[in-house]
Amino acid sequence: MTFRRKNDEPAAKISPLLRSIILSGVLLSVAVIGLNLWTLRKDWNDTVGMTEDNAVNLSLSQARQADDTFLQIELSLREVQRELEKQIATTGVESEAMSHTMRLFQRRLPQLHGLFYYDAQGKWIATSMGRIPPDIDNADREYFDYHRASPRDNLHVGPVICSRSTHEQVIPVTLRVNDAFNGFRGVLLATIKVDYFRRFYNYYELSEGDVLVLMLADSTVLYARPMPDSYIGKNLSVSPLFLKMLAHADKGSGQWTAALDGKKRIFGFVRSQRYPLVVAAGYDKQALFNHWLKSRVQNLILSLALLIVILSLGAFLLRQARHTLRYQLELTRLRDELTAANRSLENQAQSDGLTGVANRRHFDHMLTESLQSAECNGQPVSLILFDIDYFKRYNDTYGHVAGDDCLKKVANVLKNTGRRKNGITARYGGEEFAIILIGQPLSAALELAESIIAAINQLAIPHFTTALPQEHVTMSAGCAVWLASDPAQGKQALIERADEALYRAKRAGRNQVMCEERNG
Ligand code: GH3
Ligand code: MG
Ligand code: MG
Repeated sequence: MTFRRKNDEPAAKISPLLRSIILSGVLLSVAVIGLNLWTLRKDWNDTVGMTEDNAVNLSLSQARQADDTFLQIELSLREVQRELEKQIATTGVESEAMSHTMRLFQRRLPQLHGLFYYDAQGKWIATSMGRIPPDIDNADREYFDYHRASPRDNLHVGPVICSRSTHEQVIPVTLRVNDAFNGFRGVLLATIKVDYFRRFYNYYELSEGDVLVLMLADSTVLYARPMPDSYIGKNLSVSPLFLKMLAHADKGSGQWTAALDGKKRIFGFVRSQRYPLVVAAGYDKQALFNHWLKSRVQNLILSLALLIVILSLGAFLLRQARHTLRYQLELTRLRDELTAANRSLENQAQSDGLTGVANRRHFDHMLTESLQSAECNGQPVSLILFDIDYFKRYNDTYGHVAGDDCLKKVANVLKNTGRRKNGITARYGGEEFAIILIGQPLSAALELAESIIAAINQLAIPHFTTALPQEHVTMSAGCAVWLASDPAQGKQALIERADEALYRAKRAGRNQVMCEERNG
C-alpha cells in the first residue's frame, strides 16, 4: 500500500480560510493606506487654510500700517494746504516761512522724505529740503497733471518716482492748492521714502519665496519684499488678484501664480478703505509643502513601517495557515486511506476469498454473537447447513477450475436469496455453506432452504456424473433452531443438529431439506 502526496489537490487550492486571510490583509492595507492618505490630505488642507488666514492677517496689519502712514501725511498736508490757501488769499505765499513750517512737519514724521509746494506752473515755491534748486520745473509730473485737471480735493497717491532733490525712490502724495475761487494754484507734495516700507517690511520673518507687496489700487507696485527695486512700478493688472479677487471683495485669500515672478503662492489681500492702496501677502506654496512634508515624514515612515510589519505578520500567518491546512488535508486523506485499507483488510479477514461470502472464522464469530444477543432478548436463531451433492464427482468430471466456478455460482444464489430474509451467508467448508437467521423460527429456515434448493435446480449447472436423475448440480440442506427456552443448547449443539439433519437429507436421496427432530 502506498500513500501518495497530492500537492495539486485541495491543499494547493485557496480555501475559504486562506481567502479570508488574504482579503483581510488587502482590506487592512487599503484601510491603513487610505486612512493615512485621507489624514495627510486633511492635514495639508488645514495647513493651507491656516496659511491663507495668516496671509490675510498679515495683509490686514500691513494695510493698517500703510493707512496710518498715509493718514499722518495727509493730516500734515491738510494743515499746510490750509496755511497755503490762506496766504494765497491774503498776502501771497511767503516762501521762507512756508519752508520753515514744512521742515517742522518733516522732523515730526520719520516716513516723510520731503514736503514741497509748486505753483500753478510747476515752479518750486517752498520745500522742507533746505534750499530750492533753481531751474527745476515739476509741471511734467503725473500728479501735477492730475491735480491741474481735477478740481477734487482728494489726496492723490502716485507711483514711485525718483526724487529730483535726493535721487531717492519716493512715493508722491499730493493735494491740490486752490485760490479763493477754487482756481488751480499749484500742488502740495509730500514724498514718502520707499525705504521706510522696506525697513518696516523687513521686521517680518518670512521665508525666501514669500512676498509682501504694497500696490496702488491701479495695480502698480509701490514696494515688494523681497524683490529688487526693479520690480517697483511694475504693473500687475494681469494678476488674478486684480482680474478676479478684488472685483468681488476688499479682503480675502486664494492661491494663484504671482504676476510678479510666476511663482505659485497662497495669498491674502486687503484693499485700503481710505486710500487707493492694496496690500498682498503671499506664501511660497512649494516651500510650504516641502516644509509641511518634512514635518510629516517621521509619521509617514512610522505608518509605513507599521504597515510593513502588519503585512509581514499577515504573510507569516498566511503561510502558517497554508501549512496547517495542507497538513490537515494530508492527515484527513491519510486517515481516509487507512480507514479504507482497514476496511478492506477487515473484509479480507472476514470473507471467503473464492466466493466472497463470510468465511468460517467470521461464521463462528457471527453465530456466537447471534446466540448471545438472542439469549438476552429471548429470540430464536435458526441455522441452515448446505452441502453440494456429488461434488467430488463434479470436480473429477469438470476439473477444479470449473468446480471453483460452480462454487461461486452456488454461493451467489445463497447470498442473494439469504439476504432477502436477512440471513448471514457463510462458506462453512469445501463445498458446504451455512445461513444464520437471527430471530427467525425453524419454519422460516425450512422455507428459505427450500427456496434456495429450488433456485439451484433452476440454475441447472450441468453435472452428468451425479447419481441423481436431474443431471445438474443439486444441494441438500439441514435446518436446526436455537431456542432461548432451552439454555442447555450451545453453539456446537446447534451445528451438530443442523449437520445431523443434513446427513438425513443426504440419506433420504439428496436435493432436499431436512429439519432437526425435536423432542416434544
Ligand atoms: P455428497 O453428495 O455425499 O456430499 O458427495 P460429495 O462428493 O459432494 O462429497 P465429498 O465429501 O466426498 O466430496 C467433497 C468434494 O468437494 C471433495 C473436493 O474435491 C471438493 N472440494 C472441496 N473444496 C473445494 C474447492 O475449494 N474447490 C473445488 N473445485 N472443489 C472442492
Ligand atoms: Mg461435504
Ligand atoms: Mg457434498
